[in-house]
Amino acid sequence: MADCLFCKIIAGEIPSGKVYEDEYVYAFNDISPEAPVHVLIVPKEHIASCNEITEENAEIVSKIFLAAKKIAEEKGIAEGGYRIVNNCGDDGGQTVKHLHFHLLGGRSLNWPPG
Ligand code: AMP
Ligand code: ZN
Repeated sequence: MADCLFCKIIAGEIPSGKVYEDEYVYAFNDISPEAPVHVLIVPKEHIASCNEITEENAEIVSKIFLAAKKIAEEKGIAEGGYRIVNNCGDDGGQTVKHLHFHLLGGRSLNWPPG
């Protein structure tokens, strides 16, 4: 998608702090971290949001969670715990319209979110 920020990051057109990549998934440090570990995990395929997950592309969600687990282990937060968050749509707080999951950890996280 030509004007999508995260598609440009995946393509290397915009720099990012890459932490993980495989055939399906790309993960990079959030530019404005809310926790000591704040990684964004995205499908390489452009999917705008959770609303665009279908029977055909749903497998990407398990790939993303497998990547999250690996990254949590590598970052040393698997034992202590962490949070995986998806914001969907305007009321959900989604600002970038390319499906992404936030992996947050490294501190005790509050609940509920705002
Ligand atoms: P959301 O509000 O769920 O759509 O999350 C979008 C996230 O993308 C925010 O946490 C931003 O800080 C992050 N973000 C925006 N631009 C960049 C960028 N160029 N590199 C890394 N993270 C970014
Ligand atoms: Zn995109």
